[in-house]
Amino acid sequence: MSHKIGILTSGGDAPGMNAAIRAVTRSALKRGMEVYGIIDGYKGLVEGKIIPLERGSVSDIMVRGGTILGSARLPEFKLEAVRQKAVEQLRSYGIDSLVVIGGDGSYRGALELTHMGINCIGIPGTIDNDIVGTDYTIGFDTALNTIVQAIDKLRDTSSSHHRCSVVEVMGNHCGDLALYSAISCGAEVVITPEMGYDEEEVLERLRYLEQIKKKRHSIVILAEKITDADMLAKKITSATGFSGRATVLGHIQRGGSPTPQDRVLATKMGDKAVELIDNGEGGKCVGIINNEIVGVDIEQALTSPKKSRKQLYEMFERLV
Ligand code: ADP
Repeated sequence: MSHKIGILTSGGDAPGMNAAIRAVTRSALKRGMEVYGIIDGYKGLVEGKIIPLERGSVSDIMVRGGTILGSARLPEFKLEAVRQKAVEQLRSYGIDSLVVIGGDGSYRGALELTHMGINCIGIPGTIDNDIVGTDYTIGFDTALNTIVQAIDKLRDTSSSHHRCSVVEVMGNHCGDLALYSAISCGAEVVITPEMGYDEEEVLERLRYLEQIKKKRHSIVILAEKITDADMLAKKITSATGFSGRATVLGHIQRGGSPTPQDRVLATKMGDKAVELIDNGEGGKCVGIINNEIVGVDIEQALTSPKKSRKQLYEMFERLV
C-alpha cells in the first residue's frame, strides 16, 4: 500500500527528535512512501506549513539537538473545528497518515486526529521521561548526561567550600531526571513529586551528614515545581553547618547534541513508526519496553498508571 505521510514535532523539544525525523523520512522513502514535513507542530499544520522531505532533506541532522521542523503549542487544537482545518490541510496534500513526535499532550492531539480519519503514530520525544507507554523517551538520556556533567562540576567547587548545592532539574511532574541524576552523582538528597517533600527531614539529614558523618559537602537534587531552590538553599545555610547554594539548570537541559543512546533509540522508534503506518495502523505510539521496541495503543499509554520507581528509591536511600 503506497502512502503519503506527514511528520511533525510538537510540545517541548528534545535532543534526538532530529534523529527520529531522519529515520521516519528515510524508512518511509525506502518503503515507497512520499514524506511531508510539517513546520511548527499542530500550529503549522493548521496553517498549512507543509513541505516535501527528500532523502537529502534530513542529511547531517542526526547530531543536532532541537528539531529542524520546529515546534509550537496550539491550545486551540483541543477544539474539533480547529482540528478539522488540520485534517483538510492534510487531505489537500493526499496525506493520510501522520507521525507525531512529542509528549502526552501531543499524543492526545494525535488520538483525536486518528478518530477523524488520519492514522497517527506517536513517538515519545521529551527529556522528562513522563510518558507511560515506554520505559524511556527520546531526549531523557541526553538531558541526564547534561545534568550529571553540571553536577560533577558543582561537586568540585562545593567540596572546596563546605557547601551544599541544591540543583533544580526539569521533569514536569516526573521525578525520573532527578532520581537518575541523584543515583548517577551519589547525591545526598533527592526531592521528587513521587516521594513528596518534607523540608524538616531534608534539613535533619544534612545536619546529620555534616555533624556526625563530617561530610565536607553535599548535593540535593530537586525536581522542578516542588519548592523554590533559592529558598531551600537559604534554609540549609541557616539550619545546617553547610552553606547552601542553589543552581537552577533550566533550559540547557533541553539542548545539546543527542547521546548515542538517544540517537539509536530515536532511529529504532522512527523506523518502527513507519512499519506501523505501513501495516495500516493508527492511534498507536511507539515505545521501548524491556528493551524491545513495541507499538502501544495511545489510549492505553495515556491511561495506564505511572511506572513505579520504588526499588530505585529504596536503593538510593540504602546508599546515601
Ligand atoms: P507535550 O506534547 O510535550 O506534552 P503539550 O502538552 O504542550 O506538550 O501539548 C502539545 C500540543 O498538543 C498542544 O499545544 C496542543 O496543540 C496539543 N494538545 C494537547 N492536549 C490536547 C488535547 N487534549 N486534544 C488535542 N490536542 C491537544
